[in-house]
Amino acid sequence: MRPPKGEGTFVVHCSSSLYQPYFQDFLRTTAGVRNYGLLALPGGVQSLTLESYLPKFAWSGWRHIKFLMDLDEPARIILIGHDDCRWYHRGPINRLVGPERIRQEKDLRDVAATWKSRFPNASVEAYYAIVQQGRATFDAIR
Ligand SMILES: [Zn+2]
Repeated sequence: MRPPKGEGTFVVHCSSSLYQPYFQDFLRTTAGVRNYGLLALPGGVQSLTLESYLPKFAWSGWRHIKFLMDLDEPARIILIGHDDCRWYHRGPINRLVGPERIRQEKDLRDVAATWKSRFPNASVEAYYAIVQQGRATFDAIR
């Protein structure tokens, strides 16, 4: 069932096949979300930060988000990055240097801030997921 306009949730996370079941489990059991709009891209929010490097990637991502935000007006936004993301290692922006987790946390914070400025009525949460020995942890990024 579609949540009423203004009450739903929208999620952006990586399209990694390894992490999909962990993302879904986290969203249902920990975040308590059953239905949500989703934008799944390699690297999750990373493309949304690329106004300088790959502006068409950023424009396309934000355009899709605007469509869904205008359509459903979700109240809750959840952004999820994950450990050992292949996009960060092998994607078109792998020349950027620095530890992956630090870069991902910065990207999550930057996108959360941009989201809040573009859609001030939504609350934005960000998480960083790590799977070790078949168990996932989701650290809140503030
Ligand atoms: Zn990934």
